[in-house]
Amino acid sequence: MDNRENKYSVVGENEGKGLCPCCRYYSIGFGEEGFYDICPVCFWENGGDDPNHITLEEAQKKLKYLVLWINLF
Ligand SMILES: [Zn+2]
Repeated sequence: MDNRENKYSVVGENEGKGLCPCCRYYSIGFGEEGFYDICPVCFWENGGDDPNHITLEEAQKKLKYLVLWINLF
């Protein structure tokens, strides 16, 4: 039996990149490499609420306002 054909394709250039829990961009390190990475898009630190001093929910809310504000220009 040859199961090498059993591959899962990852779309685009996001291979090896981790998904930011805040802004949903593939902007941080993948898996364990992404722990305590700071997202360059939304500046969320991927270590839970503690290092960010706000909750993920609050950060996402702020991000939403930021995006709305940017879109005004
Ligand atoms: Zn982010």
